[in-house]
Amino acid sequence: MKQVSQKKFSGDITYKLEITGLTHEGQGVGKIDGFVVFVDSALPGETVTVKIVKETKSYAVGKLVGVDKPSKDRAIPFCPVFDKCGGCAVQHMSYQAQLDFKKDTVLQNIRRIGGLEKVKVLDTIGMANPFKYRNKVQYPVSMVDNQIKIGFYESRSHNIIDSTQCDIQPEESNVIRELVREFCRLNNISIYDEKTGKGLLRHVMVRKGFTTGEMMVVLVINGQELPDSEKLIKALTEKYDNIKSIVLNINTRNTNIILGDKNICLFGQNYISDYIGKFRFNISPLSFFQVNPIQTEVLYNKALEYAQLTGSETVFDLYCGIGTISLFLSEKAKKVIGVEVVPEAIEDAKENALLNNVTNAQFIAGEAEVVIPKLYEEGIRADVVVVDPPRKGCDEVLLNTLVEMQPQRIVYVSCNPSTLARDMKYLHQHGFEPLEVQPVDMFPWSSHVECVIGMQRKDT
Ligand code: SAH
Repeated sequence: MKQVSQKKFSGDITYKLEITGLTHEGQGVGKIDGFVVFVDSALPGETVTVKIVKETKSYAVGKLVGVDKPSKDRAIPFCPVFDKCGGCAVQHMSYQAQLDFKKDTVLQNIRRIGGLEKVKVLDTIGMANPFKYRNKVQYPVSMVDNQIKIGFYESRSHNIIDSTQCDIQPEESNVIRELVREFCRLNNISIYDEKTGKGLLRHVMVRKGFTTGEMMVVLVINGQELPDSEKLIKALTEKYDNIKSIVLNINTRNTNIILGDKNICLFGQNYISDYIGKFRFNISPLSFFQVNPIQTEVLYNKALEYAQLTGSETVFDLYCGIGTISLFLSEKAKKVIGVEVVPEAIEDAKENALLNNVTNAQFIAGEAEVVIPKLYEEGIRADVVVVDPPRKGCDEVLLNTLVEMQPQRIVYVSCNPSTLARDMKYLHQHGFEPLEVQPVDMFPWSSHVECVIGMQRKDT
């Protein structure tokens, strides 16, 4: 083994290899003389030619130079900057192959990390038209050689790809980006520099309600005000009369986190509205709202199905954001309690309940792992629990409280199959049987996988 790990590739010559697998990020995996090589945009079953661009003790990274024997799943990427941009990872795969890849990712994680061999994983539910599906875009901004760059990060870097067109965003976001660029150029707005921490404009965020058509533009700045902002407001609102909200977000910290805590409304309201199914939601700049509203409805309906509500249950909706799943559940439950760490989102959730005449939902701001043990101590229990945590999954303190509380069912909505598998393993070891897993394609052309799973208490 040692001999193999000392192997050095030459950067000057090309190598041929056969791709035998895919990583969860969608990179092809193969071997050269027994040494593992990862190759972007290469598919299993292909023979490819690469140049080695990185080598460590245990693996190398090859840059694709040519495909000698293509896979039947290979597709021509529709985006001209696909090979550079870090936004999409699997445009070189046919859409059906992406759906299969996502199902397989869930399956492998549940088997390997979760140790659950028999769980049924259904086929991924894909989109009929997997384009222009995102309702939110966040463009980083930088200044390079006196040119304002507004676009997407290159993969694994903070260099900005300034593509003029992104086909997974609504058309307006491409246009708004150009209007912001022109405004900055004409008014000498300084651009934030990550290295020095100086300069004003950091990010531009655009949100669009797909059903209402309402749009929000957020300018993230390293300062307290945007000079000549009335000119930008004029340019934006003259172009689109459905812009209902223009907001300055103040982020003066030297950090990779995009949004700061403080918002100043420059125009209109500080929220926009949109629908998922028949429910209407108000969405603030800091609130999480699923980025693919079409697939979100599919996902939530599946969560509702797995919850198997009869109308007599108390349901916890943990990591509830602005109460989207809570409202879906409220129709079929006696009572829903939503818990979420972002106080602004909880304010939105309360308003959203009012907006939809929902009277049996209550919302609490705080960490689920702190709030739920407290409620449990006070004797408040759930018959059914829905969790929808961020990528890092659920805190063990929370899982432990759920195990003690013994709800009949737990419905787990996950955007990260590996932490899902870890948490499922824990719940399975403590008395919950997984019933079925449904992957839903929320992020076509990216390697991200979303899924929902129903678990049932073993003695019920
Ligand atoms: N269910 C919502 C939001 C899911 S995203 C929806 O479908 O729209 C995950 C949410 O968890 C985010 O809103 C995030 O702010 C929240 N969150 C992150 N850590 C948390 C914690 N420890 N306790 C409660 N909420 C948390």
